[in-house]
Amino acid sequence: MSVLTGNDSLVHAMSDQPCPGCGLRLPPIEGTTDPYGGASPACWAVFGEITAKDYSEFRYPPIHRTLVDAYMAQHPGYATPAGRRSVAVHLVGLYLVLELGIPSDEVVSRLGTVFPDKRDVAPLLPVPKHWEATIALMRGPLSLEEHTQRARQWAEAVWRAWSAHHESVRTLAAVAMAARLKSAGTPTGRTPPGSGRRRPGSR
Ligand SMILES: [Zn+2]
Repeated sequence: MSVLTGNDSLVHAMSDQPCPGCGLRLPPIEGTTDPYGGASPACWAVFGEITAKDYSEFRYPPIHRTLVDAYMAQHPGYATPAGRRSVAVHLVGLYLVLELGIPSDEVVSRLGTVFPDKRDVAPLLPVPKHWEATIALMRGPLSLEEHTQRARQWAEAVWRAWSAHHESVRTLAAVAMAARLKSAGTPTGRTPPGSGRRRPGSR
């Protein structure tokens, strides 16, 4: 809780704390954080607000999966194998949507599981130090169209920030998609349907 004074904005600025994942500065709160400990409780609460709108006001829009991928990829927590897998899985989700042009709500059905064996993976290091956008972009009263556009803009910024690891992510995605096609009884090594590359930011 902040103390109201004659210079309230200064008090806020001084008491705000950066999120360890995305760096967003917010007044600290008591509360839970994400399962892998990559976010501050205050940032995690904002994520909760935004996803609550997805479930209620926006009735689970197609962009939802990408919004979650952007958030989780921006809040790496490498203390556990699940945390290490999480970052890779969410980056694969961003790759499929932003580079391959797969509709956000079809990612799971197209990909299956990135790590069906739940194996441990090496953490993707170094993690980005600078983010062009955070979940703060998603706040405020937004129409579904604005919500979708901003989520995409944020997701593109997160994906760009991880550029040092794009090749690793593409490889993971290719392996997972090949396994998926094989288990579905279709020939492997084919480009999945609907993989036309879309340019981000086209207006
Ligand atoms: Zn954050």
